[in-house]
Formats: sequence, structure tokens, C-alpha cells
Amino acid sequence: MEEGTRKAVMIIIVVVCLTAAGVITYMTRSGGGSALKPGTMIWVKCNNPDCAAEFEIDQKDYLDFIRENAVPGFTTMPPMECEQCGEDSVFRAVKCEKCGKVFFPGTVEGDYRDKCPDCGYSKLESRRKGE
Ligand SMILES: [Zn+2]
Ligand SMILES: [Zn+2]
Repeated sequence: MEEGTRKAVMIIIVVVCLTAAGVITYMTRSGGGSALKPGTMIWVKCNNPDCAAEFEIDQKDYLDFIRENAVPGFTTMPPMECEQCGEDSVFRAVKCEKCGKVFFPGTVEGDYRDKCPDCGYSKLESRRKGE
């Protein structure tokens, strides 16, 4: 009887260890910094309220622009020139996977940076909850 209980406990420990190992492997694999592949498109949006143009650009072009135009010591991103209104007011934006709204990260104050102001979806939030 006691022998059986000990066996059951051993099995539980082994299962827990295997699960933990699996979770760690999964996390380190998906949590690593995203590799930069050319051809990855990102969304940008014009901050001019009269224009509010949204367009997709190559992430590599965007990062090249940031590298060339970023002011050392400033944490804010330099604005790009808008193709539509010609103002220097285009910033990196995110597109909501659920409703397709394009918005600036951090629009919903005090919440996840990628929280959609329209439908409330956040990829970070759902990932943290374990999808
Ligand atoms: Zn514009
Ligand atoms: Zn949304």
C-alpha cells in the first residue's frame, strides 16, 4: 500500500518535471527577440489629425530611417515624412489583429501598449494569459 503511494508520488513528480521542462523550452523558443527579416511589413500612421494616413512600410527601411535620424539621448522616435500631407508626423503604429484598427502603441493609458482602443484586444495580454 505504502509502496503504491510512493510510486504514485514519483510519477507525479516526473510528470511535473517534464511539463516544466516543456514550458521552459516553449518560452525560450517563442520569447527570443524577433529576428529581422527583410520583407517584414510594419504599420505606420500619420499623427496629423487632419490626415491620419495609415500605410505599411518595410520594417528594415523603418529601422534604417530611425538609425539615421534618431537624436542621441532622446527616447522618442523621429517622425517620418507623410506621403499624403507632407508633414513630419508619421510614427510607428500597430494594427489590431481582431478588428484591423491601426493605432499608436500606448493609446489606452495604463494598459498594455498594444491594447486596441476600439475592441480592447491586446496580443501581449492574450500571450501573457497563455493564449
Ligand atoms: Zn499625413
Ligand atoms: Zn481592435
